[in-house]
Amino acid sequence: MTEQTATSRPVPVTELAPEALAAFAAEQRAAYDALLTRSLRLDLTRGKPAPAQLDLSEELLSLPRGHADAGGTDTRNYGGLQGIAEIREIFGELLGVPASQLVAGGNSSLTMMHDTLVHLLLHGGVDSPRPWAQEEKVTFICPVPGYDRHFALLESYGIDMVTVPMGEHGPDAEAVAALAASDPSIRGMWVVPTYANPTGAVTTQEVAARLAAMETAAPDFKIFWDNAYALHHLTADEAKSADILSLCSSAGHPHRAVMFASTSKISFAGAGVAFLAASPENVEWYLKHLSKASIGPDKVNQLRHAQFFGSAQGVREHMVRHRGVIAPKFAEVERILTERLGGLGVATWTRPSGGYFVSLDVLDGTASRVVELAKAAGVALTPAGSSFPRGDDPDDRNIRLAPTFPVLAEVTEAMDAVATCVLLAAAERVQGGA
Ligand code: PMP
Repeated sequence: MTEQTATSRPVPVTELAPEALAAFAAEQRAAYDALLTRSLRLDLTRGKPAPAQLDLSEELLSLPRGHADAGGTDTRNYGGLQGIAEIREIFGELLGVPASQLVAGGNSSLTMMHDTLVHLLLHGGVDSPRPWAQEEKVTFICPVPGYDRHFALLESYGIDMVTVPMGEHGPDAEAVAALAASDPSIRGMWVVPTYANPTGAVTTQEVAARLAAMETAAPDFKIFWDNAYALHHLTADEAKSADILSLCSSAGHPHRAVMFASTSKISFAGAGVAFLAASPENVEWYLKHLSKASIGPDKVNQLRHAQFFGSAQGVREHMVRHRGVIAPKFAEVERILTERLGGLGVATWTRPSGGYFVSLDVLDGTASRVVELAKAAGVALTPAGSSFPRGDDPDDRNIRLAPTFPVLAEVTEAMDAVATCVLLAAAERVQGGA
């Protein structure tokens, strides 16, 4: 037995005396060797809804009834670039924006983010002196840890990235304001305001107000406000998203924020409806450029969603059913991390009240090793560093856990294995004298 018994208070691994540390390391090695014999095949990599969640929306496959929208338009035909009114009304209410300022598009909000960025690069925005591509340099502020696809998108267009810490109440607004004020190449930033990917943090109205009001060296600074998890509560204490469009408008920067959302994790991840909201001028700008690429969205899918949900309240009730499926998985992650790692000084982690992820910080310098150990034991984790631009976590500390897709028993097995890997990597690190 090492000092880590059930009855005594755990001693942080970094504080163990050499003999106790050797015994602890041997114990972790034995536990890991036992894990290797189990031939696990588990996956905690991506934030996908589980089949049981997709089943909640199965009725969509037998909808719509008829094909006319509320205004009598035949949804099977071309046209209606902004999306049908009834789906915009439902989601306008949920996202806190007027339906007239909401665009309902295809199945992916990421596509809308991509297209918005490309239009800014090629054409410039409503408040840009020239297209961004004609600037010497374009830089975005990236709160970290953040969403890997946001960073990959910027990287693919040669946009520089500067990081700021993502705190408990949102991005570090003072750090953002200082950067944005001092460097005209800084044209925008990412924010996942509600139940952020991966920390679960909720951006407060105060932080949002600061971002809306701050002076920026660029005249056309854009906040890409990606509210992918706006409605994805894990508890009855439902966070309300900050009201970014109104805040920007009343601060005299009406065109600063562009909001994105989708039903990817409400209905079907591959066949939902995506949304963009912004100032009336921004919406007009977006639709003008979209009109060169499309004669109209899949309105049949929009109608089927409007009929399925019926109202904003229908969506809220649907999200409670999702919560019933995934909240126990998050509780299991929390239980295992607490039982196996609590008090040992080898990890901290988030306890999200919504969203799709748990952000796990392990001992500095061990995240890649944990992911490598887990992989060899048959547990796929998101690559270490993926929540940072270019995959570079300077502290090699952060691991994103995505527990929604596996069934509960698999979450238990996978998290137990992760805990073993965290402990072994920590023991190796401390023994190595780092
Ligand atoms: N934004 C964030 C923050 C996400 O986590 C995800 C999915 N992982 C998306 C956007 C993707 O959205 P969509 O399915 O609407 O393209």
